[in-house]
Amino acid sequence: MTEIRSIGILGGGQLGRMLSVAASRLGLRCHVYEPGAAPAGDVAHALTTAPYEDVAALRQFADSVDVITYEFENVPTSALDLLESIRPIRPNRHALAVSQDRLTEKTFLNGIGLLTAPFADVPDQADLDAAIDRIGRPAILKTRRMGYDGKGQVRIEDGGGPVEWPGAPSVLEGFVDFSAEISVIVARGADGRVAAFDPGLNVHRGGILRTTTVPCGLPAGLTTDAVLIAGRIVNALDYVGVMGVELFVTGAGLIVNEIAPRVHNSGHWTQAGCAVDQFEQHIRAIAGLTLGDGRRHVDVVMENLIGDEIDRVPELLAMPGAQLHLYGKGAARPGRKMGHVNLIAP
Ligand code: AMP
Repeated sequence: MTEIRSIGILGGGQLGRMLSVAASRLGLRCHVYEPGAAPAGDVAHALTTAPYEDVAALRQFADSVDVITYEFENVPTSALDLLESIRPIRPNRHALAVSQDRLTEKTFLNGIGLLTAPFADVPDQADLDAAIDRIGRPAILKTRRMGYDGKGQVRIEDGGGPVEWPGAPSVLEGFVDFSAEISVIVARGADGRVAAFDPGLNVHRGGILRTTTVPCGLPAGLTTDAVLIAGRIVNALDYVGVMGVELFVTGAGLIVNEIAPRVHNSGHWTQAGCAVDQFEQHIRAIAGLTLGDGRRHVDVVMENLIGDEIDRVPELLAMPGAQLHLYGKGAARPGRKMGHVNLIAP
């Protein structure tokens, strides 16, 4: 592999921003490509502001970097095809395709022997009625693509009335009666070495992650299972980079909710908890460098600062053990992730 000096990042949000900072610490430069506002542009070497349909801008971007990565899953296929003809994309296209589509994702996970919620393909209204009959209520209807933070999801309650198909290909998922939600942030290097961070306990509200706590407080057998599941997924995909694997804890064991082929909000605690955090681990992996030491050395609670929770900043600035990360975004709209704080145990 040629020496990597420059990394292209598709997407200019907070994940791209924190990836750029991590890359800069390793002496690498980042070029961010983002059609809209780009908090990552403030800290990257270069920023291209152009739509994903701009062939000339995509070419220039690819020519200027040694490897291309992404901070979100929904980059259009046509852009990826063009970029990949010029520079390698890591994590690979197959991993991206699997995680972009909830139906493909669940089929893949079952295919490698992992449990998911029971699910049914719902290509149209007629199939929705049949799917509800088969899966039963309560259930959750999710669009196959473009869903995140609970968007594109409809809860189908017990005893509720008729349900309208959301107008896009969807999957119906049986409702999982879980006792906890955890996630594993796992890294796989270009040499195939796998390293996982400690599983974190996640609390969501309104479909959005609010807090991640490590250690997660589950028995060692379960956390080992969680790490083995994450390892099985990245090996099966011949993956290079960091992945977030979200799991439901149930009486019947661990059920995979979804995988994210990128650094993940539930891995932000690693910035305060580990010598090498998820952002640096991702950069190391895609740059072909040796993975770092991701062992946890302190207990951490990560809290997202969403919308007007940004008003807590003065208090957090003065709080012992609080490591604050602000994303440099504009207005604090409801539901918008403005920053996070890692609270380390004294
Ligand atoms: P997702 O966008 O698929 O990660 O879903 C967002 C959140 O909705 C999850 O973190 C869970 O809290 C909840 N959720 C999603 N799918 C299910 C399911 N099949 N059963 C129960 N809760 C779910």
